[in-house]
Amino acid sequence: MFKYCPACASQKIVLEGHRFHCPDCGFVYYHNTAAATGCVIRAAGGKILLLVRGREPAKGKLDMPGGFVDPGEGALEGLRRELREEIGWDIPPGAEPVLFASFPNRYPYHDILYNTCDLFFAIDAPDLTEKDLQREEAEIAAVRFVNPADIHDEDLAFDSTRRAIQVYKQRYR
Ligand SMILES: [Zn+2]
Repeated sequence: MFKYCPACASQKIVLEGHRFHCPDCGFVYYHNTAAATGCVIRAAGGKILLLVRGREPAKGKLDMPGGFVDPGEGALEGLRRELREEIGWDIPPGAEPVLFASFPNRYPYHDILYNTCDLFFAIDAPDLTEKDLQREEAEIAAVRFVNPADIHDEDLAFDSTRRAIQVYKQRYR
């Protein structure tokens, strides 16, 4: 990620695990794990809402709504914001997101590999239809309501999402 020390421009900067260290000036940077959320929104008939990704990485593959938690946010706040931004949907009062799984993921973005800790929530939204949604067109090519039994690993964008969907299928079938 760093070819030069951001503090003194030395080329001797080394990466040990996720710690960058510059022996010339003592600069230290931990490339820590970032928190991210994903959400299974359970609509009528047990179908769940998935997004067709409109951008790389994994363009065209299915993903859950969600995304990185911003600095200063809690996971639930981040999830609420992402749902508003991505699908124009506010979690209705009384519909509490429930954490059901968490897995690590590696997310390449503009040549930087981010290690994430993905937190997966489930929400019941039996009245939700596509008409209630306003998708973010640049990021999301389409929204789908899918029967969990019809979701195959290769349809999904990310490893952590595959594992979360497997847990979801086992727990909520
Ligand atoms: Zn330095």
